[in-house]
Amino acid sequence: MAGIAKAARRNAWEAPGDSIKKTSVEESKLLKNTSNNSCSAIDPWLSLPAKVRWKLFRQFRSLDQLKANPRFANLLGLIDDLQFSWQSVQVVSDTHSRKLLLENAQGVRCEAVALLPAKLATATRAARATACISSQPGCGVGCPFCATGTLGYRGNLSAMEIVEQVYWAGVQATQADRQLRNVVFMGMGEPLHNLDNVLQAIDWLTDERLFGIAQRRILVSTVGVPRAMLELVTKFSSVRLALSLHSALPEQRRVLVPHAVADLDVLRNAIREVNELQSESVWIEVVLLADMNDSHEHAQSLIAFCEGLQVEVNLIPYNATNVAVAYRASEKEVREAFAKKLREAGIRTTIRRSLGEDASAACGQLTT
Ligand code: SF4
Repeated sequence: MAGIAKAARRNAWEAPGDSIKKTSVEESKLLKNTSNNSCSAIDPWLSLPAKVRWKLFRQFRSLDQLKANPRFANLLGLIDDLQFSWQSVQVVSDTHSRKLLLENAQGVRCEAVALLPAKLATATRAARATACISSQPGCGVGCPFCATGTLGYRGNLSAMEIVEQVYWAGVQATQADRQLRNVVFMGMGEPLHNLDNVLQAIDWLTDERLFGIAQRRILVSTVGVPRAMLELVTKFSSVRLALSLHSALPEQRRVLVPHAVADLDVLRNAIREVNELQSESVWIEVVLLADMNDSHEHAQSLIAFCEGLQVEVNLIPYNATNVAVAYRASEKEVREAFAKKLREAGIRTTIRRSLGEDASAACGQLTT
């Protein structure tokens, strides 16, 4: 992880919620290219002693915290030579989230969020946190209700840039006395349009020598790219998959998810194949929009879509953005009636809570 100058890193760890000024890039002796996308970029981390990697990546401790420990003091030269891809990290906090605004040397920006649900720690278990991370700095899918969709396609993030978001979210979680347990690819971009880098990032996130995050604690949300869905679960059989469906009526799905090319029958077949490759259910995600996709007809079409598949439906409250004023969230009673219909049809259904709304950090609200 690379290139945030020491002062910025110190600020980031010491002052959660404060804005961190952009600083110059440190010359790296170990990493020649801050946006290096190859496996060799990770090698300097692996060359660090195991205890340091553990502290940095699994407990998300800061360099300053390590410096205070004499056992690690003699290793600091090595650590200081590591460069992060993101040079600037700004943090916007609210009660249940910390939104990270990241920018690299080329001016590419993205956002990530540390989600901090209210659930408290128990005697045996620390309170949890989730990193919601981005795979692209924009998105070419163009969902009209999504703030990121208005940016259009802006290229891909490297594997390093992806895993560094987990690191920064983990630092924020640690500061909030949380343990980062889950990683969701639900931020900016379509992860399966950046498949190679996402696969590499998951490889590093699940590597016991690095982050050591269990596959089942990683969720990849996609609009549906059948070949890539199968490749993902073939390589990582316990990684959770979520399909952002939003409507099971073909015409309407083309409006709500304009550049998702696979039609509904192809998606159903892909889910069936995924079901054969892994034991976990595929999540079906529907952002419920008032007078748009929340009627009885929509519930029935969704029930038909799910028939015979091992899936769970998540109904997501829509968070208003200033780029999609035409859309409104369905009323609570409508959401509950919609969920009831699905449950009566035997489909496991959850109405999701939205964390991070205050900081514009909820699903579909990430733009830089
Ligand atoms: S909702 Fe997801 S797929 Fe659609 S435009 Fe936004 S980031 Fe892209």
